[in-house]
Formats: sequence, structure tokens, C-alpha cells
Amino acid sequence: NHLKKYFPIHKGLLNRTIGHVKAVDDISISIQKGETFGLVGESGSGKSTVGKTIVRLTEKTEGEIKFKGVDLYTLSPQELRKIRPSMQLIFQDPYSSLNPRVRVGDAIGEALLDHGLVPKEEIRDRVLDVLQSCGLSSYHIDRFPHEFSGGQRQRIGIARALVLNPDLIIADEPVSALDVSIQAQIINLFRKLQETRELAYLFISHDLSVVEHLCSRIGVMYLGSMMETASRDELFKNPLHPYTKALLSAVPIPIPKLKRERIVLKGDIPNPADPPSGCKFHTRCPFAVARCKEEVPVFRDAGAGHFVACHLV
Ligand code: SF4
Ligand code: MG
Repeated sequence: NHLKKYFPIHKGLLNRTIGHVKAVDDISISIQKGETFGLVGESGSGKSTVGKTIVRLTEKTEGEIKFKGVDLYTLSPQELRKIRPSMQLIFQDPYSSLNPRVRVGDAIGEALLDHGLVPKEEIRDRVLDVLQSCGLSSYHIDRFPHEFSGGQRQRIGIARALVLNPDLIIADEPVSALDVSIQAQIINLFRKLQETRELAYLFISHDLSVVEHLCSRIGVMYLGSMMETASRDELFKNPLHPYTKALLSAVPIPIPKLKRERIVLKGDIPNPADPPSGCKFHTRCPFAVARCKEEVPVFRDAGAGHFVACHLV
């Protein structure tokens, strides 16, 4: 609720703070049990920072983060440690977090041992079990990370998160580094695991076509702000925000009759340390009017669970 994360900008010999990058600037979302919320936006929009502040990999600046009704920032380090296994993070490149000299089974089992969740003699069985549910087998348990392909490594990343039996998985661009054919396999794996385990996902991606097949609701971020949230069907059928429309117009659709007009955005995402006034999107918006430069649009209810921040809606 109203999550903010500001990073100070330092300058000079004395490291004076001369300003802040508002990486996340007043974002509110909720994710239900067994639901997938897709967080979408260009790189630099603040999506990853939202994910990291939820698991307290980085500390929030303001706002409230509740997990199963408990405010995570009021917990003692011991209480937080207890709750940690229930929230797991998966990254784009699992290889970078795997020690090349540690066998994959040990890397997965380590987490179980750390948290003292299972007696030592049962760890191998648990690891095997989770590898199998991720489409790997006993053949893989004693192998080293370099022996795996990109898709298999992401399966290992997922297995390592899953072994702790989490309720929430935050997946930050988990398929972005993979070939399109492999992407589909991993997305199907995410979906299968969700059905069997009632997992909730926060699925972060710059690519709307990736979240389309997995998410029940989607939020679109731009320069630290939420521009639009809606159910997946509503967002794809009836996008209201010009930024969402532009992102969607780049997604190929299989039905030619429904051809969307391609909206090409001018320029790159502005410097987050010095965001545009008024509507942060006005410098790139094809529909901008004079008011957009002056006035910040309110994030308002457009009906049918659809929220949007744009003066024209
Ligand atoms: Fe475009 Fe103005 Fe709407 Fe912002 S408020 S998205 S600049 S029309
Ligand atoms: Mg990111």
C-alpha cells in the first residue's frame, strides 16, 4: 500500500545528497492466494525494485507491505527469518546465483538445511521430488551448473525456490534470457506448479506477450508510477492508458481482423532522477495535451476493476 522507494543521489567528496531517484513512487497492488499478478514496464520503470522491497532485499522508503495480513516491516529479524521461506525470488539469470563448484542437488538442499525445515536424511528425497516436479530427474541431482542449458538452469532456479514450499513467488524476468520456444516451456511449468500448489506469483516482465499467458491481473508501470491496472482480459481488450496501448500495439496478435494500430513511442524512457512534470509520460505520449505537462493525473477507478492514471480517460 502506497509503496515508495527512493534512492539518494550523492555528489562530491562529502557525498552530499543532492536529490533522489524515485524508483517506486506510491504503488499499491494486492495479490490473492493462487493468483498471478503481472507487473509490466520498460527497464527502469521500477518493477524489480517493487519485487525486492517486498522480500526486503532492499528496504522501502515509505508505505506498507503486508503478507497474509502481517506488516513485514514490523517483524523482528527472527520473525522475518521464519516467514522468509514462504516468499521466494526467482531471477532472470539463475546461473549467476549458482556456485559453479556446488552440485545442483546440494545447492537446492542447502536452503532446506539453512532453514532447518527437514531432517537431514530426508533432504535428498525432497530435492529429488522438487526436481521432478520441475521437469528434471535423479540424473541431474549430482551434476554441476555448467552442465545445464539455459532452460534447465531456470528449472533449477524454480526448484530451489519451490523446495521451501513458498506461498508467494516473485519472478523477475524469469524467461527473458531464454529462446522463445524454451520460454513457452518455462511459462507452462509456472502454470502447472501454480495449479498443483496454489502458489501466488508476482510476475515481472518487460514483455506483455509473456505475462498474457500466465497472469490474471496486470499492472503497467512507468518511471516508478502505476499507469494502469486491470484484469488480463480487460487490459488486452480495452486498454485505456496511452502507454499500455503503445506496449500492446507491439504485441503480435494471431487474429488479423483484430489488427491494432502500431503506436511507436518517441525516444527512450526519461532519466528517473529527473522525471518529467505532470504526467510522467507526457514527453512520449502521442495524445498529450497542455494540461498533461502541468498536472499529475489521479489514479482512478474506471469501472470493472480497471484503474488508470490519464487525464483523457
Ligand atoms: Fe498522455 Fe496526458 Fe494521458 Fe499522460 S495524462 S498519458 S500525457 S494523455
Ligand atoms: Mg528489472
